[in-house]
Amino acid sequence: MNPTPSPQTHGNIPYTILTAPENLDPSAPRRYPWAWQKYLDACANHWMPQEINMERDIALWKRHDGLSEDERRIVKRNLGFFTTADSLAANNIVLGTYRQIRAPECRQYLVRQAFEEAIHTHSYQYIVESLGLDEGEIFNAYREVPSIRDKDVFLLPYIEILATPRFCTGTREADSALLRSLIVFAAIMEGLFFYVGFAQILALGRQNKMVGASEQYQYILRDESMHCNFGIDLINQIKIENPHLWTPDFQSEISGLIHTAVGLECDYASDTMPRGVLGLNANQMHRYVTYIANRRCQQLGLPEVERGVANPFPWMSEMLDLKKEKNFFETRVTEYQTGGALRWD
Ligand code: FE
Repeated sequence: MNPTPSPQTHGNIPYTILTAPENLDPSAPRRYPWAWQKYLDACANHWMPQEINMERDIALWKRHDGLSEDERRIVKRNLGFFTTADSLAANNIVLGTYRQIRAPECRQYLVRQAFEEAIHTHSYQYIVESLGLDEGEIFNAYREVPSIRDKDVFLLPYIEILATPRFCTGTREADSALLRSLIVFAAIMEGLFFYVGFAQILALGRQNKMVGASEQYQYILRDESMHCNFGIDLINQIKIENPHLWTPDFQSEISGLIHTAVGLECDYASDTMPRGVLGLNANQMHRYVTYIANRRCQQLGLPEVERGVANPFPWMSEMLDLKKEKNFFETRVTEYQTGGALRWD
């Protein structure tokens, strides 16, 4: 049950997510304490790629029989997808979302999030350099690999609209476009399109392969899980403050986008694992994608994509801690540690 907004103010200035005056100081009293808390939690998660030793990965990658061709394909495809996605994410925040989201405590989190996207891009670069991969092949994958290109093509119009210099909120049409864009970014891009890749790379790590890359992906997953949850809290707050935007037509449009996205992520799963590999196969991965999409629908207050799909990878739940992946309206996440304090046995 969503709380009703209370008429809180910042000093004497009442504000909402979309209408806060420019240059408001993010100091207390804050209207949205959940945003500030996520900023603090994100800072407590700080990590840097070069803290992670890549020697074992390098030795394994160089050994002729170290990895199968299918395992190498998974590593390269995922680096190809994620490297574009995270630079897209940073641009989206800095050039688009930040301008439109006016509440200062939300902006405080967004600045932190943008830096984390830069760290993720740094991480992929570090893995590519460490393994001596062909940079042209990895960084052009979004153009050359259809299963990656199709996801990017789907995302781009929703992301680019916010970076258009003329775009500004204040009309019903623009506010709807913003809400749609935030949902595509948080729930579909960060909340769904990353999850096949995460499961694949973490599956390698579980088999004691590419343990350095896998450790970095685990840190990235932890960050992205919070990006997605912050985005969903933001979306739900905008829905509360602007109930006229959340019409049945709008909801069915969003459900349609999520259905399309599930199809694209399933295609990506099939392309990245044409045969069973690492004890996984594309069919299980399709169920996993549906399971994650159902979770996003629940968080947004939409009907599930397909009812009653169980998580085929319980081990991912432990790694991803989906049970703790509650948004602000359910419980507060308080169990994060600093990167240096985690154990990776
Ligand atoms: Fe992100």
